[in-house]
Amino acid sequence: MTYQTINPYTNQLVKTYPDSSDDDLERALSLGHGLYKKWRQEPAATRSQSLHTIASSMRKKKDELAQLMTLEMGKRIQEAEFEVDLCADIADYFADESENFLRPTPLVTKAGKAYVVKQAIGVLMMVEPWNFPYYQIMRVFAPNYMLGNPMILKHASNVPGCAQAFADLVREAGAPEGSITNLFLNYDQVDAAIADKRLAGVALTGSERGGSSVAQTAGKYLKKSTMELGGNDVFIVLDDADMDLVKQMAPGARLGNAGQVCCASKRFVVMDNLYDDFLSSMVEAFRKPEPGDPADPATTLAPLSSVGARDKLQEQVDAAVAAGAQVAVGNERIDSPGAFFRPTILTGIDSSNPAYDQEMFGPVAAVYKVGSEQEAIDLANDSSYGLGSVVMSQDPDRADRVARAIETGMGFINGGWTTAPELPFGGVKNSGYGRELYTYGFDAFTNEHLILSY
Ligand code: NDP
Repeated sequence: MTYQTINPYTNQLVKTYPDSSDDDLERALSLGHGLYKKWRQEPAATRSQSLHTIASSMRKKKDELAQLMTLEMGKRIQEAEFEVDLCADIADYFADESENFLRPTPLVTKAGKAYVVKQAIGVLMMVEPWNFPYYQIMRVFAPNYMLGNPMILKHASNVPGCAQAFADLVREAGAPEGSITNLFLNYDQVDAAIADKRLAGVALTGSERGGSSVAQTAGKYLKKSTMELGGNDVFIVLDDADMDLVKQMAPGARLGNAGQVCCASKRFVVMDNLYDDFLSSMVEAFRKPEPGDPADPATTLAPLSSVGARDKLQEQVDAAVAAGAQVAVGNERIDSPGAFFRPTILTGIDSSNPAYDQEMFGPVAAVYKVGSEQEAIDLANDSSYGLGSVVMSQDPDRADRVARAIETGMGFINGGWTTAPELPFGGVKNSGYGRELYTYGFDAFTNEHLILSY
């Protein structure tokens, strides 16, 4: 039994879930394929109402859904409630906008009368991580439900309850069986599904390791794929930044979701005139959160998703310190059975330090001092990752120029990372490829079908 709910606040096992069999997978593929054929005969607009119903039942069940998330992966309850609302907004957005996204594109050509119509491609596999248990699913589900691609979900093994709750909610909202089938699959079964000719594509959000493995299988069987992977995003403080705003934004940009956000700011790159002021304010802010029950709204520091995740982060911090990094605050063990990690700031990381080009998935910030704007850009780009960046400056043209100079998929100016249904999400380099949300997310698994009449 690999799918288990273990409360990361107590480290107690709550529930185990049975592994799905190969027969379960076969049934899901067959059901999904049949639904794909049926959906091809129906206009997408017929699914708009049920997607709105999914959104409204998420809002109605917000407390229950949020509590389950908090139980399984330790998210603070307010953040869990926010995530449920965001998911409902994504569902409403695609229910409303899909008609626009699906409008055929007329083409100007001497060859005849031509247009492109967007069509579904078939059953998709979704492989998702635990850090935003519903949002990660909804980013793929909402556009593909409207487009007509049925989905099979393989969620992370520590959030099986959330995975099942999402699939149940979709079914209860009146969506046809097979719209999304949640299965407790192992990696071999994921590979077998990708190899199956009824499966048309795979969307994965997760680590580089998981992404590389699944992308390899997708490549072997020539299946479309999107990969939303890790990040080591910069938060650049230029010499003309508004320091009141910087101090307000920077701690949250790192510490939200207990630091377990792919596009969280992880490297703070500060010009030398503001460095001391910045570092002392960050140290002060990182001292404040106190560990507690994430289900209690008064708690300021949630546990990480598991004791294993905490131990992995501790190993990374230990290796960074052994290689010469200095601890400005944190890195003290918290006496608790829970998976807590004290917010930590590291300085003095040079390019030979393993932490220099490594994602730390927890409340650990690296702070760097630079002497010029160009040095900040060069440091930002000297990374295997390219997901997002933040640039803080009071000169809008300069901030825009610097944001564009950074090799990432997303750039935020004078504010931390954010996400919304209408903002495309994704990265470059080892942060993956493809986009989710907005029209780009809608297009990720479409057949752009050319029709030419002579
Ligand atoms: P993993 O890659 O370990 O897990 C993510 C999902 O992939 C899980 O469902 C996991 O299953 C599955 N998986 C992993 N390896 C394979 C494989 N070989 N075959 C099939 N399935 C596989 O990631 P983490 O749990 O470590 O999640 C955190 C990572 O996700 C971080 O690196 C983070 O940056 C990234 N992330 C990226 C986002 C983005 O949009 N770019 C957003 C959020 C997170 P199982 O649980 O059973 O191992």
